[in-house]
Amino acid sequence: MGSKYEGLAVGIDLGTTYSCVAVWQEQHCRVEIIHNDQGNNTTPSVVAFTDNQRLIGDAAKNQAAANAENTVFDAKRLIGRKYSDPIIQKDKMMWPFKVVSGVNDKPMIVVNYKGQEKHLSAEEVSSMVLTKMRDIAEAYLETSVKNAVVTVPAYFNDSQRKATIDAGTIAGLNVLRIINEPTAAAIAYGLDRRINCVGERNIFVFDLGGGTFDVSLLTIKDKVFQVKATAGNTHLGGEDIDNRMVNYFVEEIKRKNKVDISGNPRALRRLRSACERAKRTLSCALTANIEIDALFQGIDFCSSITRARFDEMNMELFEECMETVKRCLTDAKMDKSSVHDIVLVGGSSRIPKVQQLLQDFFNRKDLCKSINPDEAVAYGAAVQAALLSEGVKNVPNLVLLDVTPLSLGVSTFGDIMSVVIPRNTTIPVKRTQKFVTVYDNQSSIMTEVYEGERPRASDNNLLGFYQLSGLPLAPRGHPTYDCFAIDENGILSVSTEEKITGKKNQITITNNKERLSAGEINRMILEAEIYQAEDRKFLRKAKARNSLDDYIYKMRNVLKNKYTSSKLCSQERDKLSSAITKASNLLDGDNKQDEIEVFEDYLKEFVSLYDRIMGKIG
Ligand code: AMP
Repeated sequence: MGSKYEGLAVGIDLGTTYSCVAVWQEQHCRVEIIHNDQGNNTTPSVVAFTDNQRLIGDAAKNQAAANAENTVFDAKRLIGRKYSDPIIQKDKMMWPFKVVSGVNDKPMIVVNYKGQEKHLSAEEVSSMVLTKMRDIAEAYLETSVKNAVVTVPAYFNDSQRKATIDAGTIAGLNVLRIINEPTAAAIAYGLDRRINCVGERNIFVFDLGGGTFDVSLLTIKDKVFQVKATAGNTHLGGEDIDNRMVNYFVEEIKRKNKVDISGNPRALRRLRSACERAKRTLSCALTANIEIDALFQGIDFCSSITRARFDEMNMELFEECMETVKRCLTDAKMDKSSVHDIVLVGGSSRIPKVQQLLQDFFNRKDLCKSINPDEAVAYGAAVQAALLSEGVKNVPNLVLLDVTPLSLGVSTFGDIMSVVIPRNTTIPVKRTQKFVTVYDNQSSIMTEVYEGERPRASDNNLLGFYQLSGLPLAPRGHPTYDCFAIDENGILSVSTEEKITGKKNQITITNNKERLSAGEINRMILEAEIYQAEDRKFLRKAKARNSLDDYIYKMRNVLKNKYTSSKLCSQERDKLSSAITKASNLLDGDNKQDEIEVFEDYLKEFVSLYDRIMGKIG
C-alpha cells in the first residue's frame, strides 16, 4: 500500500436516498457507526433551500412536503452525467425540483434560496450532504475530520467517480479513495465474521435500497477482495414498492369511498408515508394497518394489508431482482453453487419475500444478516479509511482490488471500438497496445478515448481526445503504442508513443467536459464556505430569537403572577411591560433584514433587566 495519510479518516456511504458515516475505533478494534443529531445512523441525502436558510438531512426531508420545488434529493442520479442523457431526461419528470441544461450540457438544479434563483450542480448538492456527514462525525468525535473514503456503486463510470471526488473537495474533504459499495459491504461482512478463509471465497452482495438495486459478485482470497462482476437496475427499490402500495390503496379508496385521490398531492403524500410504514411493519408481521385521519374530503381512511397481498402486488419487482442476480452470475461465468456467502445490503433487503426468493435460488443457503444492511457499506469504507491512515493501530490487514466497471479503449479506423482494458479488469492496471497508421506518410494521429461495451466507438462514451503530430514519414502500418493506466480510484491516463522519434502525447481524463474545471471547483469551495457561514449566521440569529422569546415568556409570567408582580413598584412593572412590547415587536416584525447583532444586543439588555428584577424579587 502506498504512502499513508495523516489525520483522522472516516468512511462515508454517500447514498441515493440515505447516507451513513463510520469510523474505525482503534481502542475497541471495531467500526463505530456514527449517529446524527437526531440519533439516527443514516441521514437523508436531501438538501433544502428556504427564504432564510439551507437545511440538510432530516431537517430538509421533514419540510419536503411544504417546499417540494426547493428540496433536492437524488443528486447521485445526476452526478457525472450529461443533461441530455436519456436517464436524466426520464428522471427529471419525477422530480419536483427543476433541472436545466448548463454549460457543456451539464445538468443544473434550480432552487430559490433567500429569494434568489440559484443554479447548483450535482457535485455541489452532494458536497452539502458530505459536509453534513463530516459535521456529524466531527460532533461525535469532538475533533476535526479532513479525510474520507467515499463509496460509489460498482457500475459508476470514470466521470461519475471523478465528480464524486470533486464533491468531496468542495466539501473541504480530502477523498483518500473512492471504493465500490459492494466491496465495502463485503469487507464489513468479512470482518464481522472474522473470515480467515483458506482458498478462495465467493461472495454475492445483494443491495436493494430505496431507489436502486445492485448486485455484485466478489472473491476474497488471502484477504484480497476482487469484484468479479456487477449488475443492477438504477430504478428499482423501496420507492417502487411504496408506489405499488399507493396505487393499490388509491383503487381501494375509489371502490370503498367513491372518491379519487390520485389528483391530490397532499393526500397521496400522506398515503405514501403510511404505506412506507406499513411496508416496514410487514417485514416482521403478517399484517399491517393503515389509518389516516381526514385523508381526503373529510374521509378517515382505515384499512389493512397482509404480507401475502403485499408480496403478490410486488412479485414482478422481486422477480426482476432475481433475473438481475442470474445475469450477474452469468456475466461472472460462475455457477450459483460456487457462491459461498450471500450478503444483504440496503433497507429493502429486509423484505421477507425477497430473502426467501434469494435463499431458494441459492439452494437454501443461509443469508448473511449479521450487519445492519443500511450500515454495511459505511462500515467497510471506515475500515478502508483506517487502512489508508497514518498510525492507526489494530486495523485488520486487507488489500482491496477493484475492477474497471466499463471497457476502455480507442476508436480505430471505421469507428471501431478497440478495447485496451476490458471491463472487470482488476485495478490499478497498466496496459500497452500496438496500433498502426492507416495511410502512407501519415504524419499525425488523433486518439479518441472511449468507455463502454458497444462495438461502434461513437456509441460509447467519449472521455477525451488528443493528437500526436510529427510522426516519421512511413508506409501505412507504422506502429504507435497506446498505454492505458488506471489508478486505485479508477482514474484513467492514456498516452500514445511513437518509438523512432520518441514523440509522445498523453491525457489524464480529468478535464473531460462533464468534469468540473479547477476554477469551477475553487468557486464552489468558496461558495460552500459562504453557505456554511450563512447557516451558522442563521443558527445564531435563530438562537437569539428563541432566547428572546423565552425571556418574554418568563417576564410575562413575572407580571401575571400576583406574588412576583406585587414585589415590583409600578415603575418597574411599566418598564417590564414596555421591554416585553419592544421585544415582541422585534420578533413579530418583518425583520428578515435585521442583523444578528440587533437581536443579540437586545437580548443582552433584556436578560440584564430580567436578572435585576429577579434579584429584587429574590
Ligand atoms: P437504503 O437506501 O439502503 O437506506 O434503503 C432505504 C429503503 O429501505 C427505503 O425504501 C425503506 O422504505 C426501505 N426499508 C427500510 N427498512 C425496511 C424494512 N424493515 N422493510 C422493508 N423495507 C425497508
